[in-house]
Amino acid sequence: MRAVKLSGPGTLTLEDVPIPEPGPGQVRIKVTSAGLCQSDLHVLHMKDWPVRNMTMGHEGAGIIDAVAPDVSGPAVGDPVIVDLIWSCGQCRPYVEGRGNACAVAGSRTAFPTTPGLGPNGAMADYQVVPARQTLPLQGLDPATAAPLGDAGVTPMHAINTVRDRLIAGATVVVIGVGGLGHLGVQILAATTGARIVALDTDPAKVAAAAGHGAHLALPSGADAAARILAETDGYGADVVLDFVGVQPTIDLAAATVAPEGAVRLVGLGGGRFPMSAVGDGTVLPWGVNVQRSYGGTRTDLLQVLALARGGRLRVDTVAYPLDEFQRAFDDLAAGRLSGRAVLIP
Ligand code: NAD
Ligand code: ZN
Repeated sequence: MRAVKLSGPGTLTLEDVPIPEPGPGQVRIKVTSAGLCQSDLHVLHMKDWPVRNMTMGHEGAGIIDAVAPDVSGPAVGDPVIVDLIWSCGQCRPYVEGRGNACAVAGSRTAFPTTPGLGPNGAMADYQVVPARQTLPLQGLDPATAAPLGDAGVTPMHAINTVRDRLIAGATVVVIGVGGLGHLGVQILAATTGARIVALDTDPAKVAAAAGHGAHLALPSGADAAARILAETDGYGADVVLDFVGVQPTIDLAAATVAPEGAVRLVGLGGGRFPMSAVGDGTVLPWGVNVQRSYGGTRTDLLQVLALARGGRLRVDTVAYPLDEFQRAFDDLAAGRLSGRAVLIP
């Protein structure tokens, strides 16, 4: 079968590898869509990524085509989506509903096991996964569903951690309306009463944001902080979701969050958050709650799938044949995509 392999720093190759057999507790999926994430580019360009010759792809959907003898439940022919995070299913954080902070599959400094960022991922004809890390698609199109597993789940998780703040009258700022952000805006519009202000540096993304449900869309330029403060009577936004994470967007988040507000850092752009015990007018207002947000839980995925089935969450996909993976990665890197690129084996 074909698989897109990370063969070295900065280099992806399409390799011919044996079709994997499911081991105990596993199923094999005939992949129908695999999403491309900006995180794939971060990994691609890391000089010291620890997993050699890994198949890329942490967003996958497909049809189960083989199951191990000990598996009950998922069956051959079932259309499924694959969990982003393969938590242990037993540790205290998992049982408490925080599988994205699994104490066994992850650690204080390492993120939990994630396919395509460790185990072989979905950018291949077939993917073998633990049976318990799949969920039925139940009517969703397997050719476009894959991005729900990360680009849907990760914003849903960040939003769920601030959901009590997103009431009518509140303002939420979304920075970056790309793969994650265009679904984040839709989730906010579908499930909260807050006014949504979306920002992006790309005029095409700004123009598209209203169609996703943003009430106000702004260019993420030098005057963005002043615009947001003006929109909130100088008080600031109740919640800022940063789906970029570069220094300018983190500074924007810090400069526009309200006292007692919340910031969720999702983007992995390498910026640093300004934090100080003493306020001198240049750091944060009092009481601000800041979280680095990683992925999401199966509960978040269930909610994303329910919204999509109800027609309230639509992934804008740009499809590429698996063989043309390089063109898809180049388009993502150049910012030429709108929505999410998916590879179709
Ligand atoms: P994407 O390329 O699809 O979207 C990024 C968007 O940000 C684009 O629309 C781009 O125009 C916009 N942008 C770039 N610079 C900007 C700026 N200075 N101000 C405003 N907008 C700007 O990327 P994506 O796949 O949506 O991923 C977004 C980020 O989230 C990446 O850093 C990715 O690695 C990260 N990520 C994190 C998690 C997590 O669990 N924390 C999960 C998935 C992705
Ligand atoms: Zn991702």
